[in-house]
Amino acid sequence: MAKIGDTCTFCGRSRREVDLMINGISGAICNDCARQAYEIVKEQMKHQKSSFEMDRSELPKPEDIKAFLDQYIIGQDDAKRYLSVSVYNHYKRLLQEKTSDDVEIEKSNIIMVGTTGTGKTLMARTIAKLLHVPFAIVDATVLTQAGYVGEDIESILTRLLQAADYDVDAAERGIVFIDEIDKIARKGDNPSITRDVSGEGVQQGLLKLLEGSVVNVPPQGGRKHPEQKMIPVDTKNILFICGGAFDGIEKKIAQRLNTRVVGYAAAKDTAQVDKNNLLKYITPADLKSFGLIPEIIGRLPILTYLNPLDRTALRRILTEPKNSIIKQYVKLFAMDGIELSFDEDVFEFIVDKALEFKLGARGLRSIVEAIMMDAMFTMPTTGEKTLHVTLAYAKEQFEKADVNRLQVS
Ligand code: ADP
Repeated sequence: MAKIGDTCTFCGRSRREVDLMINGISGAICNDCARQAYEIVKEQMKHQKSSFEMDRSELPKPEDIKAFLDQYIIGQDDAKRYLSVSVYNHYKRLLQEKTSDDVEIEKSNIIMVGTTGTGKTLMARTIAKLLHVPFAIVDATVLTQAGYVGEDIESILTRLLQAADYDVDAAERGIVFIDEIDKIARKGDNPSITRDVSGEGVQQGLLKLLEGSVVNVPPQGGRKHPEQKMIPVDTKNILFICGGAFDGIEKKIAQRLNTRVVGYAAAKDTAQVDKNNLLKYITPADLKSFGLIPEIIGRLPILTYLNPLDRTALRRILTEPKNSIIKQYVKLFAMDGIELSFDEDVFEFIVDKALEFKLGARGLRSIVEAIMMDAMFTMPTTGEKTLHVTLAYAKEQFEKADVNRLQVS
C-alpha cells in the first residue's frame, strides 16, 4: 500500500523523481510544487495589499504638495504651483471614478519648459516620493518611430509597468515624466517633406498615449517581437508630465513679443518685459513654432516654466534643500565619526566656481567632491574626528583637482 510521502499530492511525481518531499498529515508536497505555491502566495498577497492603494484621507492638498516640494527644490514657485494642482486633480479624478457620476473630469497633462539643470527632473522625482501611484521617468531622445533603431513609444509604458510591479491596474493610474520632449520637435517649421524618424513620427506615436487609448505593451521593453506576450494598458488615466530645455525658444518668444507690441501701447508693454527671463512669457504658439505638432500641444494643456538659476539660487541649493549637497557630505563624514563643518565663505567660493565654469547646479556637486576628495581618502585611516573646511583649504584642494575633469553629473 502506498504511504504518505511516496508521491507528491500536487504533481503526482514519486519520491525518486524529486529532490525533496515534505510530508503532511494526509499528503505530501515536493520541492518544486512548494516553490510554485510560494510564488502564488506572494503574488496574491501583493494584489491584496497593493502599495499603490489610494486612501481618500491621505489625499494631499495642493498646498501640502507644494510645501513638500519646497523642502527639496529651491525657487521655481510657478512650476511648483502648477504641478501641485495638476497632481492633486489627478488624484481627484482617480477617486471620482469610483463614484457613479455623469461629469467626467479630463486629465491635464503638463509641460515644463526650462534650461537644463534648473530642477525639472528633480521636481518630477520629488513628486514621485510623495505619491502612492507608480511613477516612471523616460527620456524622449531614445524613442523612435516603430521600425527604426531605438525604442518604441510603448517602452514608456513598459517602464511604468515595471514601476508598478506589473500591476496593470496601478500602472493605469500612474504618472509618467517624459524628459527632453524638445528633442522630438520636428526640424523646421514646415510639416516634414522627408521622413522625420526621430521627430514628427515619434510625436504622432506619443499622441496615441497622451490621448488615452489601449496600448499593447511589451512587458520587457525593447523591440516588439511576435512571440512576446503583450500586456494591454489603458492610458486614459495616466498623467503625463513632459519637460524640455527648448534651447533657443527665447528667440521665438522675443520675436512674438516684438511683433505684438507695435504702436502706442508698445512702449509700456516692452518696458515690462523681463528680458532675462523670456521663458515666463511662453505660450503654446511658441512650442508650435519650435516644432511640436499642434495635436501634442493640445494634449499638454498645462504649460509652465522654470527660472534660470542665479547666484542666490545656487547658494541656497548648496545648503538649504532637505538633502542638499552639503548635508549629504556632512552625513557621509558622520558615518565615519567625523564632524564636518564649513566656513561660510567656502560656499561663496563654490558658487563662484560653478558660475565661472558655467556648470550650473549640476556642477556644485563636482566642485564639492573635488574639495573633499583628499579628506575622504585619508581621514578614514588617520582617525581624526573633525574637519573644518576654511576658504584657504577649499582653494588649495580645488586647485589640486584637475578642473577639466570636473563633470556635470
Ligand atoms: P533638469 O531636469 O532641469 O535638466 P535636474 O532636475 O536634473 O535638471 O537638476 C540637476 C541637479 O541640480 C539636481 O539633481 C539638483 O541637485 C540640482 N538642482 C537643480 N535645480 C534645483 C533647484 N531648483 N533646487 C534644488 N536643486 C536643484
